Amino acid sequence: MNLVELRNLKKVYENGTVALRGINLEVKKGEFLGVMGPSGSGKSTLLHIIGGLDKPSEGEVRVFGRDISSMSEDELAELRRRRIAYIFQFYYLLEDFTVLENLTIIGELLGIKEPKKKALEILSFLRLSHRINHKPYQLSGGEQQRVAIGRALMVEPFLILADEPTGNVDSKEGEKIFNLFKDMNQRGITFIVATHNEELRPFFSRIVYLRDGQIIQEE
Ligand code: ADP
Ligand code: MG
Repeated sequence: MNLVELRNLKKVYENGTVALRGINLEVKKGEFLGVMGPSGSGKSTLLHIIGGLDKPSEGEVRVFGRDISSMSEDELAELRRRRIAYIFQFYYLLEDFTVLENLTIIGELLGIKEPKKKALEILSFLRLSHRINHKPYQLSGGEQQRVAIGRALMVEPFLILADEPTGNVDSKEGEKIFNLFKDMNQRGITFIVATHNEELRPFFSRIVYLRDGQIIQEE
């Protein structure tokens, strides 16, 4: 089953910048797809559009079999809330709250049962149990990114979109994060990861290479 289907996807920003020039791509359930290419090649734009954070100028975007251009704002919000999670280069944690609270707040917003129990399970999986009462500034970059991953897991997503998730951590932490992604992938979560870090290539089940808003190669 295709989780994501893109047909002739184009994006021209208001200032005239052409960011995507006709992308065709299918992503199957269970894939661990890498989107690679130099800075400015359109990776972030592609992820934003797949996640419904931005709209294409032309072309078709189907997510979970549905054309997102036909979805109402409510349906898009629901898609973002429950089924697709984002992990960014900058973690966007709530600085005044503890690690545990950063996760439980998401659970409370979503109205899930026993958010604290769930948060504790996830933090244990992420090997952060010893950090639950710390605040973000007390953690290393890698630990902060793992908290952000935990926050993404709280929504029980089918699809995780990660944009340069290891952009601010050293290569050892980067590998740790990717090993966690692999574990999560084996538990059934599909991944689309944008990165220009060549060291991470061996992790992907498939890679598409972008250049100037076009897919120039697949492997
Ligand atoms: P990448 O993530 O591969 O670095 P981006 O998708 O961020 O690439 O950018 C693709 C192109 O679109 C670049 O030329 C970038 O400058 C441009 N761009 C990105 N966001 C915007 C925006 N909000 N407005 C105008 N141009 C943008
Ligand atoms: Mg980018």
